[in-house]
Amino acid sequence: MILDANDVENGACVTADVCVVGAGAAGIAIALSLLDSGVDVLVLESGGLEDSRETQSLYAGTVEDPAMHSPPDRYRQRRLGGSTTIWGGRCMPFDPIDFEARDYEAFSGWPIGLAELAPFYPQANVLCEAGRFAYTAREAFPDGGRPMIAGFEGQAFSTDTLERFSCPTDFGSRYRARLSSSRTVRVMCHANVTAMKLDAAGRRIEELEVKTLPGKCFRVHARRIVLAVGGLESVRLLLNSPGASGRGLGNGHDVVGRYYMCHLAGTIGTLVFRDGVAVNHGYELSPDGVYCRRRFALREPAQQALRAGNFVARLHHPRMTDPAHRTGILSLLYLARFMIPYEYGKRLHGGEPIRLRSAVAHLRNVLADAGGIVAFLWHWFRDRTLAARKFPSVIIHPRRPRYSLDFHAEQEPNPQSRVTLGAERDPLGLRRLHVDWRYSSQDVHTVQASLAALADDIRASGAGSFQFEQDEVEREMLRYGAYGGHHIGTVRMGTDPRTSVVDTDCRVHEVDNLYVAGSAVFPTSSQANPTLTIVALALRLASHLRAVTVDRAGNTAESPVQKGA
Ligand SMILES: Cc1cc2nc3c(=O)[nH]c(=O)nc-3n(C[C@H](O)[C@H](O)[C@H](O)COP(=O)(O)OP(=O)(O)OC[C@H]3O[C@@H](n4cnc5c(N)ncnc54)[C@H](O)[C@@H]3O)c2cc1C
Repeated sequence: MILDANDVENGACVTADVCVVGAGAAGIAIALSLLDSGVDVLVLESGGLEDSRETQSLYAGTVEDPAMHSPPDRYRQRRLGGSTTIWGGRCMPFDPIDFEARDYEAFSGWPIGLAELAPFYPQANVLCEAGRFAYTAREAFPDGGRPMIAGFEGQAFSTDTLERFSCPTDFGSRYRARLSSSRTVRVMCHANVTAMKLDAAGRRIEELEVKTLPGKCFRVHARRIVLAVGGLESVRLLLNSPGASGRGLGNGHDVVGRYYMCHLAGTIGTLVFRDGVAVNHGYELSPDGVYCRRRFALREPAQQALRAGNFVARLHHPRMTDPAHRTGILSLLYLARFMIPYEYGKRLHGGEPIRLRSAVAHLRNVLADAGGIVAFLWHWFRDRTLAARKFPSVIIHPRRPRYSLDFHAEQEPNPQSRVTLGAERDPLGLRRLHVDWRYSSQDVHTVQASLAALADDIRASGAGSFQFEQDEVEREMLRYGAYGGHHIGTVRMGTDPRTSVVDTDCRVHEVDNLYVAGSAVFPTSSQANPTLTIVALALRLASHLRAVTVDRAGNTAESPVQKGA
């Protein structure tokens, strides 16, 4: 059932067994998993079915250094489906090493291992519409697929693991019909949770306060509450309620909002292959019709030997900004960058104005490559605009076998990298966020050491050469600031309440009936994009909620509650 909070009476009390706050990938995965479980689920979603500027502006906040981090209302979407309404759909599971404590990565180590998430990944893959859970070329392709680089078998790097691409699935529109027809799951749009009130003992959330922008205010009573509001907003909701300590819910030990990680990303160096070396650049369709892509992945023993975090790199076209690439479509994209949404355009330019001389050179590229541009635009229209499963990204096959590398690496957890509350309040009375993202010398080392090992592997294979400047690495990591849409680690999972906020069931240590779903609970960030793991962890949490809410006879274990709305 899909409802609107503006239809609830002022001052009413709405009840449920489980209340999920937020209908993004995490919240919707939990709701779908509980659909026929007998559990009465209420999903409170701030946004509606469409984008709304007024609702989106509730995400506004401040950043310590605008060069280091985008404004908090960018790279997040406040509407049904959350940020999956604009995500890129790149899926892959975490690697076993991501869960391990490593003495060279401070504060690393999860209290659960990959084995505890593994049962939930295949279903997460189904919800993300990324096909079979097959993340190596050998598993995904009957003949093992085409190698990324003929003859390359790196000592430090493997090219056998895959990224698989979701449609990309917008969880809001894709699962709306299923949620609408459910009698046990109610999704209430335009419902903003603004406060969480504890009972007299200070151990349970007794009541949620819900407000709408036009001015409705009502209460929700639920036996269990799940915050599924994303990695930044989880902090905001926890800190905006005083909790038993007076410092914010779950924040008795001042951990909420710390250890904030994004990924380390950039485009660097020049990779030249020898003439005649077969290079497989771009996407391959798997037998189940999913776009897959290989990349260079740093093997686990190499990570340990280098004392580096997890790291991958993909073949990439030359930097767009420099017209020396002489590629019409790259120049056209560069010149048209202001028409590209902020989240995708930012990494094309970093905000500098286009200089006249460079604009002329780019224009010359465009005019000289009209045929290439027409062919690209037709491919884009057919395979991206019209197709239900969209071609994932711009792939340019260079005339000469020269590439740059697009790297994506793990960031070390750092308690000084932090999200706090600012002084300003939003129209619903919540204090806005202040983001102070920081990186460490270990982060620079991870990227430098990995790139150097990759250069060695490429040289040793005889396929070509990779050159980059070591002192370019840090500049490149910071060119666009923190990697946009991955907000990780702010409500970390652990067994010790002094250094973590939630336990292995994702339950807030200090509050018996409050859970957190999403990348906020990840203690480390991996090289992997987060959403597949967000969904897998959400499904694991749903299975826990079902187990603690429904008894063996299929009844919800506690006494019935009055149903509202
Ligand atoms: C441009 C871009 C590209 C991306 N590409 C990829 C990719 O290729 N692969 C990948 O793995 N990840 C990608 N991501 C990240 C991915 O989108 C997120 O990891 C994922 O959507 C997070 O899901 P979530 O449910 O945890 O949070 P969200 O999607 O943020 O959902 C949270 C929901 O909570 C609601 N909400 C917030 N506050 C309240 C409140 N107070 N009361 C009620 N409701 C509230 C919001 O409206 C929202 O619907 C990308 C992100 C962006 C921005």
